[in-house]
This record gives sequence, structure tokens and C-alpha cells, in this order.
Amino acid sequence: GERILEVTDLKKHFPIRGGLLGSTVGYVYAVDGVSFHINKGETLSLVGESGCGKSTVGKAVLRLFPLTSGQVVLNNRRIDDLSAGTLRPLRRQIQVVFQDPFSSLNPRMRVRDILAEPIRNFGLAKNEAEVDERVGALMDKVRLPRDAVNRWPHEFSGGQRQRICIARALAAEPDVIVCDEAVSALDVSVKAQIVNLLQDLQSELGLAMLFISHDLAIVEHMTHRVAVMYLGKIVEVADRKSLFGSPRHPYTEALLSAVPVPVPGAVRERIVLQGDVPSPIKPPKGCRFHTRCPYAFDRCRSEEPALRDDGTGHLAACHLHDRPAAENPLLNKAPP
Ligand code: SF4
Ligand code: MG
Repeated sequence: GERILEVTDLKKHFPIRGGLLGSTVGYVYAVDGVSFHINKGETLSLVGESGCGKSTVGKAVLRLFPLTSGQVVLNNRRIDDLSAGTLRPLRRQIQVVFQDPFSSLNPRMRVRDILAEPIRNFGLAKNEAEVDERVGALMDKVRLPRDAVNRWPHEFSGGQRQRICIARALAAEPDVIVCDEAVSALDVSVKAQIVNLLQDLQSELGLAMLFISHDLAIVEHMTHRVAVMYLGKIVEVADRKSLFGSPRHPYTEALLSAVPVPVPGAVRERIVLQGDVPSPIKPPKGCRFHTRCPYAFDRCRSEEPALRDDGTGHLAACHLHDRPAAENPLLNKAPP
């Protein structure tokens, strides 16, 4: 497919200030060398436990703060090094839907004004009549009644507010939408409706999505590809079927073991990881997962594994794949 977003060796290190003079005493290595791409019309899900850096990746590609290093290419144009002024018109191309539909809508603006703002800011309508027409069309797209545009955010339920947030993102006519835990705060039944809406919109509009989520059951239901993050790094990337069917990283295997299998009667063997996620201030040497990995061996403690393709487009960063297949525990599991 045609690449719409390409991220190369992205790093975001937040300085820790301390001492009398407020000098930098260390860094939080929140994102520490992350590369991925998204094709036109494709959903890439970024998954991992809270604190792994996935939201920071989302904010970095949205350029909500400067990067420490790395490249972000949107529609064949580098955006990581642009000034705020140069970036402003390009922001139309990448929009965001955040987790909390309660705090992300201005309570003092009617829905009409919330949706009209990006249309006006990006000069997408010739006059106010056209603004109104576009606002109405956006309400249709997110399946809300047109006359609800006169209401205030507090008059809507959580799910309806998230529809308004989606409409606001669509108002800019983006090519890419970043959804950061966009359904995590919603009730189970509402979750499914919003996920289905996002899927419908994606195929209708040819949108690309970066779907940031800790909820693998939802991801399994709707994504095209998945990237798994652990402690500031991507440890595995694959298409949905390949990742859920035959994970090639022990961390992914453990995460998946906690997800209900969509086949009646089938179970996955539950893998409970020992210990806590180490601090991103002092990540472990070698493989960052070695302190919790059930298969860790000597090499893992000293040498960092590279993210490597198995030849089918399935990438994983794990030394086990240097072993003969018969001695690789990841490849010798009974299927669920
Ligand atoms: Fe586990 Fe070693 Fe693979 Fe890291 S490289 S995931 S510690 S087996
Ligand atoms: Mg987050």
C-alpha cells in the first residue's frame, strides 16, 4: 500500500529537573527509538501496558511537543522539524480523538461551533451557509441528528460526546486519525458502537488510523496491523492474524494469554508475568524485557535484540529467533 505516515527512530526523552539550580539530573526514556509506518486507509494499533510510551508516540506524531530525535513523514513531507507556523496548515491532515469525551469538548461551546471551528480555521468553506452544510453532513456521518447541533456538550451521553469528538476530527478532512484510548472510558455496549462507527468511517473515507489501546480484545476485532510496545520500544509488528495467531515475542505472547479467545470452548494458556514494568528512567540493559521474560537467557541481559522480519513481514525483537526452530519455545506451542 501507499504510505501515509512514516515514523523513523522516534525518541522522546523527558528531562528530570532536580537540585538547587534545577539542572537536568536524568531522563524519562518514554519513547526510545520507535519506527513504523501506516498505509493509506489502514489501521495500525499501538498496544502495550500503560506507561509503555504509546500515548507519547501519538502525541509526538501529532507534534504536540518537539521530538528528542527521529523523523515523522506525513504525506511524503517531513513534519518533525517544521516550525509552528509552517506546521499549522498541515495539522489538517492528522487529527486526534482522545480518551475522555468529557474534558475534550469545550463546555461553553454549542456543538455547531465546536464543529465549525476547524472548518473555518482550515478554510474549508467559502461562506457560513457552507459551514452549516458541512456541520450537518458531519452529524450525519457520526449518526447524530442534525438538530442536535444547537445543544451543549453536557446534554450528551459519553458515547454521543465521543461521536462529536470524531465529527470534530473529521471536520478537518484528515488523512490520518490518531485514536488515543478513544473507547476505553466508554461502557461496553457503547464501546462496540463507537468502534463500529470508526470502522465504517474508515472504509467510507479511506482514513488511516493509529489506534492506541491497551484493550487487545477490541484491537483483535478491528485492526489491520498491530505494533506492540514495551518500555519505550516496539517489540513486535505484524498483521492482525499473524500477531494474534502466532506471536513472535514473549511479551506479546503474555499479553495475548489474557485475552479471551473468540472461538467457543477454546482457551489460551494464561501466562502471568513476574515483577513490575521497570522504570523508564533506568531501563534494563540488553533486552528491556529480560527482567520479566520467562525465556530469558544470558545473551538477553547484555545484548539488545534488533526488530527483525521473519521474511513474511512479521517483525519481532527477540534473540530466541536466532535458534533453530525446534529449540525456539515461541514456535513450539500447541494452537489454542
Ligand atoms: Fe525474552 Fe531474551 Fe527474547 Fe528478550 S530477547 S524477549 S529476554 S528471550
Ligand atoms: Mg496512555
